[in-house]
Amino acid sequence: MDKLFLRPKPTRREFLQIATASLALLGLSQALTPKVVKALEASSGKPSVIWLHGSECTGCSESLINSLEPTAVSLLLDTISLRYHETLMAASGHKAEEALEKAIAEGGYLLVIEGAIPLAEDGLYCTIGGKTFKDIVRGCAKNAAAIIPVGSCATYGGFPAAGPTDSVGYLYRNTKKHHEFDDVTGDKPVINLPCCPMHPERLVAVIVHYLTFGTIPPLDNFERPISMYGELLHDNCERRGQFEAGRFVTDWGDPSQNGYCLYLKGCKGPWSRHDCWKRLWNGRTNYCIAANVPCIGCSEPEFYERFSPLYDRQFDITLPGIGKVDIDKVMATVAAIAAAGISIDTIITKLKGEES
Ligand code: SF4
Ligand code: SF4
Repeated sequence: MDKLFLRPKPTRREFLQIATASLALLGLSQALTPKVVKALEASSGKPSVIWLHGSECTGCSESLINSLEPTAVSLLLDTISLRYHETLMAASGHKAEEALEKAIAEGGYLLVIEGAIPLAEDGLYCTIGGKTFKDIVRGCAKNAAAIIPVGSCATYGGFPAAGPTDSVGYLYRNTKKHHEFDDVTGDKPVINLPCCPMHPERLVAVIVHYLTFGTIPPLDNFERPISMYGELLHDNCERRGQFEAGRFVTDWGDPSQNGYCLYLKGCKGPWSRHDCWKRLWNGRTNYCIAANVPCIGCSEPEFYERFSPLYDRQFDITLPGIGKVDIDKVMATVAAIAAAGISIDTIITKLKGEES
């Protein structure tokens, strides 16, 4: 069984759409479009993809299949070979496990991981087909060509890491704690695509890069593609002017505060690196800040537990010669601080380091 999903092969027009969108996301020249289209056309059925589900809500899969543009679904379902995906595949039970074993034996696949890996009780809190998820991940990682954890759960632990199951993300495979996981990654490339949920276009772009160049895009310290996670939201936010001017939303019911900075309502933009502000979501219609919602920092390892409660600001600051200061008081005297020559921006960028 080579393909679990039988749909018409994408048209050349769809390949062009995939190519141009992915090149933009990767920060590469559109002049490479013919090369990408050629690689996509030649990639029918290859490489295969194994998509695992661990401790998670399946929201990342929802994000993929609900994408309004056909590019993500076309690439994964119609172009390359999605061999195993528990919630999309028609097969179940032993048939599904046989498909997984066959794909593993053939090797050379892209391993997409959705969901965190529980370690407590030797992994007992997530078992599929009688195997713990940590053993399933190890078994699949062994013969993979590249490993792509998608969503905050799979990359850093996300919501499950805040619970009692001692769940971790794949990023932590080499930490002391993760030695229980007995990592088999070796020198295989790992590309983390955090955010809750994952953005389907980011996954498509990584796969397109792999199909076209046989390599992965440049990564940062958290193994995230720099082209997608290289810039701070705070540096690009349309409300940055309000932040600088000290105009903050303090009362959701006050219409005069519409469009003010959301920092005091818990915005994690000053610590969050991603391209949501230009990538947008839901068919490129909107993103958190534009929808008047604070950034929850789901692109960062601190999400969820250290950034919780998400809609409260929780970092106070330490000022030289003054000590710990409640940020509410700082904001109330923002004009005085500015007059003293200390920019609010400088203070805020220090918060994370002082709290860690
Ligand atoms: Fe669900 Fe978010 Fe985890 Fe994806 S990252 S599985 S959407 S909780
Ligand atoms: Fe934008 Fe949030 Fe920064 Fe305010 S704190 S400027 S809302 S990113």
